[in-house]
Amino acid sequence: MGRRGDRRRLRLRLLLPGGGDHRDHLGHPERVPASRLNDRRAASAAHLQDHLRPGRRRPRADQDHLPRRGREGSASQADEASEPVLQRVVRRRAPPRTEERRAPDPRQQARSRALLLVDAVKVQAALAALGQPKFRWDQVRQAVFGKSVSSYDEILVLPAEIRRALSEQLPLLSVKERRVDVSGDGRAHKALLNLHDGRVVETVLLRPSETRWTTCISSQVGCAVACTFCATGLMGLTRSLTPEEITDQVLFWRQYMAKKGLPGRLDNVVYMGMGEPFACYEQVSASLKTLLDYKLFGIGARHISVSTSGVAPRIALFGRDFPQVNLAISLHAATDELRTRLVPMNKAFNLEALAQALKEYIGSTNRKIFFEYVLLKGENDRPEDAGALVKWLDGVGPKELLHVNLIVFNQTDTPHKPTDENDARIFQQRLLAGGYKSTVRQNLGRDIDGACGQLVVLEKA
Ligand code: SF4
Repeated sequence: MGRRGDRRRLRLRLLLPGGGDHRDHLGHPERVPASRLNDRRAASAAHLQDHLRPGRRRPRADQDHLPRRGREGSASQADEASEPVLQRVVRRRAPPRTEERRAPDPRQQARSRALLLVDAVKVQAALAALGQPKFRWDQVRQAVFGKSVSSYDEILVLPAEIRRALSEQLPLLSVKERRVDVSGDGRAHKALLNLHDGRVVETVLLRPSETRWTTCISSQVGCAVACTFCATGLMGLTRSLTPEEITDQVLFWRQYMAKKGLPGRLDNVVYMGMGEPFACYEQVSASLKTLLDYKLFGIGARHISVSTSGVAPRIALFGRDFPQVNLAISLHAATDELRTRLVPMNKAFNLEALAQALKEYIGSTNRKIFFEYVLLKGENDRPEDAGALVKWLDGVGPKELLHVNLIVFNQTDTPHKPTDENDARIFQQRLLAGGYKSTVRQNLGRDIDGACGQLVVLEKA
């Protein structure tokens, strides 16, 4: 069996009954017996379903980890406990009212600054501790972000003892390459990256045209949204990434391209890897500021896209915070019944709530919105599905601001099947006839399980 066969076998070891390596709380490998592992998976799936069930009440025993204030059991808290989990999380962090936004909390500002400049602050502090003048930071910055060096040893303008000291004290990246797979046509590269706590995340580098490179980055390890067709959704959520871990995926690929001598420049970023970006808005927001900062990554806002499965309250906030960054919505169905089945978070924020949020977004930005629609054979690719989609889009905004990207399903370990290419074209024609621009997206990286919806961490058994 070849490498692809090996990967498939590893995946089966992960997803189907069998043993596997897990990590303890310190990140050390822990051998878990097959029976216990299966119990954990079943419990995790049941827990997620329970969280997403409307009307769910948190059992008292689960409240032990909450702050005292959250355990008092008032009527309003009981109501809160009955909300679906993502809705609760988002409501707690709802954007402040306009007048509050005019007078920002200085502590919050300091925290945001710390999140934004975490790499820079660490390097500057290390240089200061080494008694170096301030211009040394500019030398490091230009080498790391301008020349994509992979180690301090390559920054020859620094004195040798400073290079050595920085190498010992501070890794240049917060992520470490574990493995990179390259597709047969060389246009898709998928990396498995180790994080400091032993977790693993995937990221993809794509070359859609001769000179353009795009990276698809992750915002979380796993995902709680649990879309039924998505390999990441099968993992459940482990944790969100830090801003540094998010932006370091871009830095990793720039270094990779420099080392491999790949021509062209990486300056397109899409937040469409593992995770729901708006479920960790603060980290994603900080990472966006770093990517946009002309002194650091300097990536143009219109070259960055953030994709959400529809966390409605965050959409308007995103429009206010980043009006020039592209917004994509993972839609996949245009009736609540079907969408709730495919994207369970639709229970928390249904299509009406999503349409309202998008209207507000368009009102404040007048920007185009991209809709991602994975075509699943016999499920959401029928004529009536195209009709429902046109009807729903009619209620969202002007036709010229709405664009539908059709994605032929990339096979994952789920029961769904891909729509035939021909049927995808027919679906596209129905949208065009309804007045909506639509493209059938190229699928790069299928042969390395790096295409849309295929990202999943394969731990060696
Ligand atoms: S498609 Fe996106 S939102 Fe849905 S489970 Fe996968 S990673 Fe999460």
